[in-house]
Amino acid sequence: MPAADFNMHEIHWLMDMFNTVDVGLVVLDRQYCVCIWNGFMENHSGLLPSAVKDKDIFDLFPSIDEQWFRKKTDSVFVLKNRSFTIWEQKPYIFRFKNYRPITGKAHHMYQNATFIPLTSTTGDVTHVCIIIYDVTDEAVNKIELEEANRLLEQVSRTDSLTQLPNRGFWEETLTKEFKRLNRSNGCGSLLILDIDHFKNINDTYGHATGDEALRHIAGLLKTTLRESDMAGRYGGEEFVVTLCDTDLEGAQVFAERLRQRVESTEVVVGEFKLKMTISIGIAQYQDSFTQYEQWIEAADKALYRSKENGRNQISVSDMK
Ligand code: GH3
Ligand code: MG
Ligand code: MG
Repeated sequence: MPAADFNMHEIHWLMDMFNTVDVGLVVLDRQYCVCIWNGFMENHSGLLPSAVKDKDIFDLFPSIDEQWFRKKTDSVFVLKNRSFTIWEQKPYIFRFKNYRPITGKAHHMYQNATFIPLTSTTGDVTHVCIIIYDVTDEAVNKIELEEANRLLEQVSRTDSLTQLPNRGFWEETLTKEFKRLNRSNGCGSLLILDIDHFKNINDTYGHATGDEALRHIAGLLKTTLRESDMAGRYGGEEFVVTLCDTDLEGAQVFAERLRQRVESTEVVVGEFKLKMTISIGIAQYQDSFTQYEQWIEAADKALYRSKENGRNQISVSDMK
C-alpha cells in the first residue's frame, strides 16, 4: 500500500475511533469556543459537531459553572499541566440525561473529567482537550451503598417498637455526656421511668395492646423532651432520659410534667381504654462518679423507692 494511502487510512481509522470511543472528547480554544466534538458528545447532547463548532461553550451549556470552569482551564493553559475532576467534587460538567437502564435512578450522567493542555508547534498551550468519562454506574452504586449504610446504622440504633434510641445507642450518648461533665463544671440529670403494674396490662388486654401502650408512653416522652434531651428505651417497659444542663430542680419539673401527662391521658387501643401511671427515679450528676454506670444505678435506686412508696411518684437519688 503506498505511504500516502496508508496515511489516509490511518486518518480515517482515527476518525472512526474518535467518534465511537465511549468517552467524550472536546477541544476548546482559549476563548472557550468548541473546536472538536466527538460522537459521544453528539449522542448525549443531541448537538451535531456542526451545531457547536466555534460556539461559546457557556452559551451552549448555561448549566456549566462558568467561574469554576474558567479557573480549572486557566490553570491548564498557564501551568501546562493536566487537571482532573471527579464526580464527588462536581457530579457533572455537561448536564446529560442518564439513559442507562440499570442505573435509571440517576436523572443525569455522573462524570469524571480530565483536562489536557494541547500545545502548538511553538510550544504554547493554545487549546484544552476535555475527556469526559461516564461514571454513573460507579456513582449510583456508591451513593446507594452509603444510603444503605446510613439506614443500617439508623436501624441499629433504634428500638423498633417505639422508634426511640435503643439501650446501646442511648448508653453511647450517655457516655459522651458523662465525659463532658467530667471535664466541665456543668450539670446534668438522669431519669429512669418504669410503667406501673405493666404486667397487668399484658395479662388483661394481651401483648399487642401492651405494645401499643408502650408506643403511647414513648410518644408522650418524645413530645415532653427538649432538643438537647436524650431519651431511650432502656428495657421492656423502662425508659431513660438524659437531661443536659439541667439541675435537680429542672429535672423534677420535667419529671412531674411527664408523670402528670401519663396519668391524665387515656390510651385508646381498639375497644379498650387504658389508664397508666409511671414511677420515676432522678439522679443528678455527681463529681464523685467515676463510671457512668454509677449514675444509672443512682437513678435506678431512686426509682425503686418510688415503687416501694406506692408508685405513680418521683424520687430523687441521695447518692453523693
Ligand atoms: P411494677 O409496677 O413493679 O413495675 O410492675 P410491672 O408489672 O410493670 O413490672 P414487671 O417488671 O414485673 O413487668 C414488666 C412487664 O413488662 C413484664 C413484661 O411482660 C412486660 N414487657 C416487657 N417488654 C415488653 C414489650 O416489649 N411488650 C409488651 N407488651 N410487654 C412487655
Ligand atoms: Mg420494669
Ligand atoms: Mg413496671
